[in-house]
Order: sequence, then C-alpha cells, then structure tokens
Amino acid sequence: MPSIDFESTYGVIIIQDMNIVSVDANYARIYGYQSPEDLLTNSNSFLDLISEDYHVAACQNYRDTMSGQREPRGHTYTNVDRNGREFTVFTIDHLTEWQGRPALQVTVIDLSPAIELQNLVRKQDQMYYDMIMQSAQGIIVHRDFKPLMANPSWVKLQGGKSIEQALQLDSILDLIPQNNTNDIRKHYQAIISGELSGTSTVVENIGFDGIHRFFNIYDNAITWKGQPAVQVVLEDVTQKVMLEKQLVHQANYDEMTDLLNRRAIYEWLREHMSSNNYLVCMLLDIDDFKSINDTYGHMVGDEVICALANITKRNAEKVGGVAGRWGGEEFIIFIPNASLETAHEVSEGVRQQFHQVEFKIDEQLRFNSSVSIGISDSQACEDGVTIDALVNLTDQSLYRAKANGKNCVDGDVVAL
Ligand code: GH3
Ligand code: MG
Ligand code: MG
Repeated sequence: MPSIDFESTYGVIIIQDMNIVSVDANYARIYGYQSPEDLLTNSNSFLDLISEDYHVAACQNYRDTMSGQREPRGHTYTNVDRNGREFTVFTIDHLTEWQGRPALQVTVIDLSPAIELQNLVRKQDQMYYDMIMQSAQGIIVHRDFKPLMANPSWVKLQGGKSIEQALQLDSILDLIPQNNTNDIRKHYQAIISGELSGTSTVVENIGFDGIHRFFNIYDNAITWKGQPAVQVVLEDVTQKVMLEKQLVHQANYDEMTDLLNRRAIYEWLREHMSSNNYLVCMLLDIDDFKSINDTYGHMVGDEVICALANITKRNAEKVGGVAGRWGGEEFIIFIPNASLETAHEVSEGVRQQFHQVEFKIDEQLRFNSSVSIGISDSQACEDGVTIDALVNLTDQSLYRAKANGKNCVDGDVVAL
C-alpha cells in the first residue's frame, strides 16, 4: 500500500498587504515552482498564486483576519498550479509580524497525495468488488449460515431472483436437504475453528426454485466487518454428479429390469455372507421360456422377463431381501436372517402372482407364464459357506422344481 510523506506536504508563506514577503521551499514546490526564489521572481502578489475565483474572498479574509474581526481558521482550496496540476490544500492562518508590521502567516498542507491515495484505495476496492460481482462462480459470505453478502452468480446458481432475496434468508441451511444439515453444521464449525481449510466438498442444495442441484464448494474462514465469517465459493457440478450416479447405477443394475446385476449380487454377498450371518437363497427360472420367445418373439419375451423382475423385487424387498437378475430369465433372491418358511412364503407369493399375469398379444391372443423356484440356505452348505456352494445347492433345488413339473417351489426344502 503506498504511503504519504507528510513532511514534504507542509509549506509556509508570509504575506503582508497581499504581497509575498517570505516563502519556504515546500510551499514553492506545492505551487509548482522550483524554489522560493523562483516563486518570488514570478509572483508579484499572493493573489497570483490562487485561483481568480478566490481573489475576492482571499482579500476579504486577509482584511478580516488582520483587523481581528475574524479568528484565524482552516480552509480547504482546490488550485491549479502554473504547470496545470490540480491540487487541493488545507490552509491555516496565523497572525504574525514581518519587519515590525503585522503580517499573515499561511501554513498549507497539500492534500493531493492523500486524495490520490484515497482514490487509489477506492479504485482497488471497486476492482475487487467488480471481480466478485462479475465472477461466474457463486460467492456468498455467511456467519452461522446468515448470509452477509452474495454475488449475482450465487443467486443465479440457486435459482433465485435477486441479491436481496438471498440476503433476506435467515439461514442458508434452508437451501440444504434436512438429512444433511447436521453434517453441514459440523463442517462449518471445522472451517470457522480453522481445523479445516483449503478443502472442497460436494453439497446438495435445494434452490429458491425448488430444484435440487449439486455444488462443489470451497469455503474459507474470513473476517467480515471485523467479525469471523465464512466465504463460500461454489460451482455447479450437478451434471457431473448425476452422470456419476448414473454410471454407478449402470455398473450395478441390469438395464432391462433395473434389478441388481450379477456383479452387484456378488458384491452384496461378499458384504453379507459372513460365517455367522444366516442367509436364505432362492433361484427363479421362467418355465419354457424358449417357446415364449419362439411363439411371440423376443420383445414379448422381454416383457415377460420384466413382469417377473417387478414381482420378484417387490416380494423380496417386503421382507428385507434383495433381488437380482442372475441370467437371461433367471432371478435370484437373498434374504438375510429369514427362515426357510419365510423363503417358501415369498417364493409361493412370487409364483402365484406371476402365474396370474396375463400377457396380451391382441384381443384374441393372451397367455400366462409360470416360474419354478428353488430354495436353499447357508446352513445347508456342509463344506463351508461360499457363494458358489450356496448357489449350487439352490440350483439343485430349482432342478427338482423343474423335474416336479414346473410352476412350483421345490417342496423338499420346507421339509428340511
Ligand atoms: P425351462 O423350463 O427348462 O427353463 O426351459 P426354458 O425354455 O426356459 O429354457 P432356458 O431356461 O434354458 O431358456 C432360456 C432362454 O431365455 C434362452 C434365451 O434365448 C432366452 N433369453 C435369455 N435372455 C433373454 C432376454 O433378455 N430376452 C429374451 N427375450 N430372451 C432371453
Ligand atoms: Mg433358464
Ligand atoms: Mg427357463
């Protein structure tokens, strides 16, 4: 920050009957002269140094001060020196004597450097203000979530109409889904206490327009009008977050049925299949599905697969289980900590509901399909519980259901 040398801004002149009788080097320099001699040679009267606009007032001032009608006091004048430089001075008059006669001593302080400095600071402030106001990134300053400043980009990113609308908010927590507010409060404390800094976080906001958006936020503890506050800079990453969610979904869910795919089922099993976690497993396979494809085409076949997928998912989730697409027209269900009886009830429910679905080709042509279901549990794995052992046992049960005439749940299991 530039500073002012006050010593050099202070000059003195002594005038008598409006004539200059003495002047110092600083005064001469402030008024655009090389030296006191230069000033004295080029100025016949004090009036030559001041703007014509002030001539009458200066003469009046001289007379009134010298006659004692007026207490000497300070004035501020703006002058243009002989080089065309505009400068502002503060002057203070004192009564004095020169060669035995009363004279007026005028002390001037050049205010121009201070004014220039003030203008520079003002310009810099304006530059920072413009930078913040024109930033494409949203910026908000808040203290304990009460907004203190927001820029137009922040308002726009939050689907708002005006900065006033933003500043009227009692708390920006109003824009955060309720489930997340505790985490956000903890995050604020970590930032304000200095425990956390220079990090970025993805947060979900519900804008003024009710739309959910995701923002990458960078927040920092700052001092705002002398008090601690937090400055938040945010950028919209909604598309990126949605794409990531979509990719994660695609990696785990079968596109056609929206059930867990085989990879995700294995992952689920790895998490849930510890030795002391009892699991029941069911395998479902549509009966004579090849002939459905052959008779009505693959599109109809797909429709039949989706119908069973929905029924399977609904029934599995009702009892805290998960359902996945194991293969073409085969599905799998796992229910943690449920009895074989429950597994049998779920399977019977699925079998019956699926069998009741009527697939309509046209007004005349309708058909029903059926499914066979095998059941097993982790206790039946004699040589240790592994994913493959459990699925193999369940597959054998499914084979028995097929052998028993299809459209049934392998009954042997219930007897176990
Ligand atoms: P079973 O009663 O013994 O199960 O006889 P099936 O005819 O159903 O025999 P299988 O289970 O082996 O038949 C599976 C058929 O499913 C073979 C394949 O062409 C068909 N398929 C697999 N995936 C799809 C799919 O996504 N869409 C359609 N339409 N058909 C599929
Ligand atoms: Mg099959
Ligand atoms: Mg089949």
